[in-house]
Amino acid sequence: MSAPDPKKRIFLSPPHLGTAERRHVETAFDSNWIAPAGPHLTAFEAEMRAACGLRAALGVSSGSAALHLAVRLLGVQPGDEVFCSTFTFVATANPIVYEGGRPVFIDAEDRSWNMDPARLDEALADRAKQGRRPRAIIVADIYGQCAAWDEIRAVADAHGVPVIEDAAEAVGATYHGEWAGRFGVLGVYSFNGNKIITTSSGGMLVSDDPALIEHAQKIATQARDAAPHYQHSELGYNYRMSNVLAGIGRGQLEVLAQRVERRREIFDFYRRALVDLPGVDFMPELPGSRSNRWLTCLTLDPLQTRVSRDDVLAALAADNIEARPLWKPLHQQPLFRAAPRFGGAVADRLFNRGLCLPSGSAMTEDDLQRVVDVVRGVFPQP
Ligand SMILES: *Cc1c(COP(=O)(O)O)cnc(C)c1O
Repeated sequence: MSAPDPKKRIFLSPPHLGTAERRHVETAFDSNWIAPAGPHLTAFEAEMRAACGLRAALGVSSGSAALHLAVRLLGVQPGDEVFCSTFTFVATANPIVYEGGRPVFIDAEDRSWNMDPARLDEALADRAKQGRRPRAIIVADIYGQCAAWDEIRAVADAHGVPVIEDAAEAVGATYHGEWAGRFGVLGVYSFNGNKIITTSSGGMLVSDDPALIEHAQKIATQARDAAPHYQHSELGYNYRMSNVLAGIGRGQLEVLAQRVERRREIFDFYRRALVDLPGVDFMPELPGSRSNRWLTCLTLDPLQTRVSRDDVLAALAADNIEARPLWKPLHQQPLFRAAPRFGGAVADRLFNRGLCLPSGSAMTEDDLQRVVDVVRGVFPQP
């Protein structure tokens, strides 16, 4: 007797290509536009501008690079405070430290799981009392869900502090019908391999201020001055996106609306199949917003069930299914242990109780049912 085949691995959020990507890559090869910037990059930026409705966009090598450029553009200097969401991936805050700035973490709220506008107000008022003001505020749209932007913007504007929107996970999500990425002075998208659309690795910086993006383009290409020789008067980086990857991005943008639809269907499938379990709650959707449901997230309430987040993760792992705890709050990261913070209990509770289920848009109904069966199997049978 032979051993049974190991079960097919179900990944958390693998790439899902359409049909145009390969054609675009081939035209890049055929025309020898492998590098550097080229026609696909110019076209991808124009297509992204049209999609998000902003006047300027710069394709870069990653969402992290776009965030770093944004922090540089807003003039963060050594010692400057920058307020930042605590319930997010570390890449949101790292560029503050790259520039010698000091992150101050702001808690999440239950409505959106994003930065709590009331906490932000409290933090800004606290600094104002001391005659201080952060150089910038970085707000993440987590798991593809927009922050409560009307309120965040009102608070930030009242204190005159510019906002960077980390919409890395929220490509194609909307808030009052407008694209995520439009709500700060600068917006950031990621096309990393696990995001809703991907260029394998890549990102984009967007703004309605073309002068900012023009400056970003300069410092993303080693900050070369306008001179026939190589002359540099400010510090730059090598952060541009390659023309080949932009070709992949153009194909992915064509199927983005379908990818959002499918991720939302996957979320609905899981919710219908699991919501009756005691203590199980799904990530809310902020009224007036439309999440791209990048990952389906749920929490387990310990007052209603003895099943823990880790029990569910262990059962899924044993079935060769990839799932993850929710983001560990940045104020809990050893890297940032000395950073000031305002609140943190909401993010802590989400981290202690929550997990993300596999949500790739190429998942089949059988894959989804397999995940559901494993999760249900962890709960006591009625
Ligand atoms: C993925 C991600 C980033 C970084 O994007 P990369 O393209 O991986 O560098 C930044 N912020 C958040 C919230 C992310 O999820």
